Formats: sequence, C-alpha cells, structure tokens
Amino acid sequence: MPIPPKTLHFLRKLKKNSDPVDVAARLQPSERVSSPIMTLPKPTGASVSRIWTRLKKSGVPSSAQDSLADEQTLAQLDAYAGNIENMIGTVKVPIGVVGPLCVNGIFAQGEYFVPLATTEAALVASYARGAKAVGRSGGVSVATLGEGVLRSPAFRFSSIAEAGLFVDWVVSSLDDLISVAETTTRHGKLLSIDPVIDGEIVFLMCRYDTGDAAGQNMVTFATEALCAHAVEASPVAPKTWYLEANFSGDKKASFLGAMLGRGRRVTAQVDVRGDVVEKTFGLSIEQILEYGRVANLGALMSGQVGAQAHFANGLAALYLATGQDVACVAESAVGFTRMERSESGLLVTVTLPNLMLGTVGGGTQLPTQSACLDVIGLRGTGNASALAEIAAAMCLCGELSLTAAVAGGQFGDAHKRLARGE
Ligand code: NAP
Repeated sequence: MPIPPKTLHFLRKLKKNSDPVDVAARLQPSERVSSPIMTLPKPTGASVSRIWTRLKKSGVPSSAQDSLADEQTLAQLDAYAGNIENMIGTVKVPIGVVGPLCVNGIFAQGEYFVPLATTEAALVASYARGAKAVGRSGGVSVATLGEGVLRSPAFRFSSIAEAGLFVDWVVSSLDDLISVAETTTRHGKLLSIDPVIDGEIVFLMCRYDTGDAAGQNMVTFATEALCAHAVEASPVAPKTWYLEANFSGDKKASFLGAMLGRGRRVTAQVDVRGDVVEKTFGLSIEQILEYGRVANLGALMSGQVGAQAHFANGLAALYLATGQDVACVAESAVGFTRMERSESGLLVTVTLPNLMLGTVGGGTQLPTQSACLDVIGLRGTGNASALAEIAAAMCLCGELSLTAAVAGGQFGDAHKRLARGE
C-alpha cells in the first residue's frame, strides 16, 4: 500500500529537525511528575494568589498574572463560584455586535443587537452583511418547533427477557417515574421516556422541558433520581446502570440529534429580493445557487451530519458572549441550510434541531455574559426561546453571507483585508 503524501511529508520534517533516538527518548514515561494543584471550587483572593505563586514558581511570568487576575476580576470572584475550579482569572475575548437583526419570530419580535465574541476577523463583518440583506427583506421569519433535552441512562440485565420485564415495568410506572424525576427541579418537566432495547441492555431516552435553562445539570439530577427509583422499585434488578450511556448526543454531532433534536428545534426563513441580493452581495441569484449546489455536494461527499456552511462560527461566538456551554456547539451546530429560487428572489431556510442554550443558569449570570444578554435584551426568565430564535436567524445571516462570499470570490479577500490588513 502506498504511504500517503501527508505521512511522508511529516516524517521528512520530523527527521530533519530531530534524531529518531531522541524522539523515542522523549516519549518515555517521565520521572518528574509533580503533585497537581488541589481542586479549589470556590475562588477567593487567597486561593487565586496561592495558585499564582505555584505557577510563577514553575516559570510562568508575572505579566500573565497581571493580565488574567486583573483588578475587576478579583473584585468579582464571588460571581464565578459554581462555574469554575482552580480559578486564576478571566480571559478577555473581543466582542463585536451584529445588528439590528430584524426577527419575526414566535418568541423573538423586533430588532436585536447580537453580541459575538470571537478572535476570527471577518466573522462579525460577514454576519453583519447577512443581517443587512435580511433587514432589506423585511427580516427573518423564525419558529421554535419543539423543546426537549435528552438524558439517556442505560441498565444492564442478565438476559433479554429481564430487559423486556424492566421495560414493561417502566411503561406501567410512567407517572411515578415522572413524579420522582420532577422532585429535583421546580422548572424541569419530564416529557417522555422512550425505552430502547439492545440485547440485555435497556436505554431510557428521557426528554425534558428545561424552562429557560439550557438544562444539562437539570436533566442529570432529575434522571439520577429517576434511575435510583427504578433500580429500587423495579421487579427486576439491573446488574449495573449508568446515568448517561452516550446515547443522548450530549456535546456530539449525531444523526439522532439531527432527526429528533436535543434542546430547542428552530427553523428560520427569509425571501431576499433579487435586487437586494445584487445590491448587498454584487451577485446574481443564480451565481449563489450554483455555488450552493456544489457546496451541498461537498457536504454529501464528506459525510457531514446535516448540510450547512458554518453554523458553528456564529453559535460559538454567541455562546461565548452569552455564557452558554461552548462545548454544546458540537451538537448545536448540526443542521440544514437550503437555498432556492422564489418568485421574487432567493429563499433561504435554515433548521437547527439541537440548540442547547438558556437565559438562566450555567454561565448566563456571570458579569460580562449577563451584560451581553442585556445587549440583546434577553437576560433571565422567559427569554430562552427568543434567544434560540435569534440564534437561528443569526445563523441564517451567516449562511447567506458566506455562501455569497465564496460564490463571488470574495472569501479570501475579505479575510486578507480584515485579518491581515492587506
Ligand atoms: P443550572 O445553573 O445548573 O440550573 C439552572 C437553575 O436555574 C436551577 O436551579 C433552576 O431551578 C433555576 N431556574 C430559575 N428560573 C428558571 C427558569 N425560568 N427556567 C429554568 N430554570 C430556572 O443550569 P442547567 O441549565 O441545569 O445546567 C447548565 C450547566 O450544566 C452549564 O454550566 C453546563 O456547562 C453544565 N453541564 C452539566 C452537565 C451535566 O451532565 N451535569 C453536562 C454538561 C454541561 P430548578 O432546578 O429548581 O428548576
């Protein structure tokens, strides 16, 4: 079998810079293993300074402490308890704003300024360009189609027959299981339990409405109570059980999520008039559609879960700005973009089935993150579905602008100009 060129290239580079014997020696287990920093859950001035003393002893420069453990951060340490362990400071990410983004949603209505935290030049400019085209077209129509965060515990029995008996018991005990799960939360509601059997293993797909919280902790605690009750009360005892069996799609792009959704499922659409397409992007509708067809083929050929251009860009920036769990971009950025000719112009549709976000809980109450929710006007209770609709509308703007940029040969230039100043 021929050796792939990238492997040969890497081997040549490695041999040029280092002796293979040295490389082998570097990979040996080390004898100099220091004791790790103790887990310090609640940051205080003393705990932060204790860790910095240790870091500086290891050669970390004092200037790093000055940058990360700045005066404002140290004055607000209490706000971070419950969000971080071994805290040494805060990192500052620049925030740009897109908007006003005009949204005609079920929950979000009006014009919104959307803060995006990123270090990628051209990202905010691109979403802003999409928002401009959308504004000239009367705004994005957006609908939240469903809500429900999954936890998927698994139970292993001695046989398929026992697994079946357990499922039979679960089905006849739904009311009890719901009551037990809901004792752990005032806002969470257990919507459904869907049993899935594989031999002697039973997965329970537990889906919750989590109110205005993204809900990862909420569904964990509720499902743990449910499992404990099931193990105690079921006529067949499992040999083992696991609170999460990696079947829910938590922080992973999955086909399950693409089809059934996790979090909020939102669809957004805009009909951009032909003259607006030409004025905003300097392109015809056909030029955009022609590239769109090639890009869809690329998505198919690469085995993408879903088919879209870059939902992850806008979502990561919005999640970072507003205190969402950024790792959930892995699942939230799964979805579909569709562009086609309408009677008057270009019809653009996006659907995001897994928007994991909230306006309470998690990192949403942290000092700068809650300030970003204030910029959108959606801090706190009653606002999570509106935020999801804005996230989807914003993703649509990004899809439109990036598709046009590549179709019109502006993609490289925009990055050269905005990132390199060329
Ligand atoms: P949380 O901050 O743990 O809980 C939300 C809190 O807000 C609950 O105490 C809830 O009360 C309360 N609340 C007040 N008003 C509410 C409203 N209108 N709607 C919903 N809740 C309301 O947040 P979470 O969303 O459950 O969990 C998110 C955090 O979990 C993130 O920080 C994420 O990084 C982390 N996480 C956890 C896991 C895990 O498996 N445990 C996995 C991934 C991420 P009630 O509980 O009484 O309803």
